[in-house]
Amino acid sequence: MLRKLLSLVLFFALPAAAQTIALRVGHVINPATGVVAKDQVILVENGKITAVGAPSAIPKDARVVDLSNEWVMPGLIDAHTHLTLSEIPGKAPFEASYLKEGTALRGLRGLHNAQAILQAGFTTVREVGNEANYACSDLKQAFKQGWFDGPTMQCAGKIIAPFGGQAVRMPPEQGEFWKWEYIDADSPDEIRRAIHENIFYGADVIKLVADNSAFHYSENDIRVAVEEAHAAGRPVAVHVYGGPAADNVIRGGADSLEHGFGLTDDQLRLMKEKGTFLVGTDFPASHLAGLNPSNDTLADADALGKKIIDRLGRAYRIGVKMAFGSDTVSEMPGRTRADLMLDYLAVWRAAGVPPAEILKAMTTNGAELLRINNERGSIAAGQFADIIAMPSDPLQDLESLRKVNFVMKNGKIVRSPN
Ligand SMILES: [Zn+2]
Repeated sequence: MLRKLLSLVLFFALPAAAQTIALRVGHVINPATGVVAKDQVILVENGKITAVGAPSAIPKDARVVDLSNEWVMPGLIDAHTHLTLSEIPGKAPFEASYLKEGTALRGLRGLHNAQAILQAGFTTVREVGNEANYACSDLKQAFKQGWFDGPTMQCAGKIIAPFGGQAVRMPPEQGEFWKWEYIDADSPDEIRRAIHENIFYGADVIKLVADNSAFHYSENDIRVAVEEAHAAGRPVAVHVYGGPAADNVIRGGADSLEHGFGLTDDQLRLMKEKGTFLVGTDFPASHLAGLNPSNDTLADADALGKKIIDRLGRAYRIGVKMAFGSDTVSEMPGRTRADLMLDYLAVWRAAGVPPAEILKAMTTNGAELLRINNERGSIAAGQFADIIAMPSDPLQDLESLRKVNFVMKNGKIVRSPN
């Protein structure tokens, strides 16, 4: 009886059924397989895709959107962003960016960047730390409330690192100011506590920095972090360039290595064997030149640019699972954060990765790494309607992704060519 009453209440509490949107589409790209289906209709209702198939299936009262001259695919995923952070240009050290801007301003910067990248087709991002005092969590809430259109955001909260965060050569008189962005954790117990704190304040992913200093996280430290994070349903992403620290990260069972610029073939093979993702943050040399070198790795932009192309090519040929991640933090006059993120496509091409594989890294693989592949990352019935379109085929020319002119986010059209 109670059940019957409850269902009656629910029935009357439900809003009127939302209108079905029917996207009449010229070409639908399935990035998981690289297969293109022609002349399809995608039906969207209450934020989700309800059917994909032949044009005969359009319901009479549906709102029809004509994308018959377009190439359509799932919204793009960037697995390594810092939308709330921007480097202060010039010679200011990296630390200045978080000394000069408070959490509110960082949240607004994040909003500005999030709106720009959504318009460009990035419908999901993973913000891997450097978000001041949990600005990403606040931004995520604002999007969930519907106050603004924005991408789905996963947040890491404060980055967990051995003493010092990612600050470099700071005088002791300044105190431990990095603690606004990082949590010092130098033992398994401190790592567990830091993970709890982050999850409490809204973290969806746990981000560690393994090798910013001469002291590294041990294999056991990483394993402890992975066990603790996995028990709470969160993946672990670890900033690591290479060397023995990377061995510890791979063997300790991290879900993804971030950057990994110095990974050897043996390390890449071990990653393949263990199913570890590489989020390579494959910077174009021109972007590296604009970064303030906070450590020696970033000092020679040309050399590092070549090293990144080489490492990306090797990772692809060895068969490591890769998710697209940009790590864009610079501002360049006249260019949006999204423009800069799409500059990475040229690096992937230079490394010899075929366009179909790159699209997969930007959708299917990203969704798997973010543990959302049952709801996002493909165009299929039951998925949230995160859909983008462009007037030419990205499988032929990847730069087509710069021409995205239709964006649907959770079933709402936020950009349209018509
Ligand atoms: Zn980063």
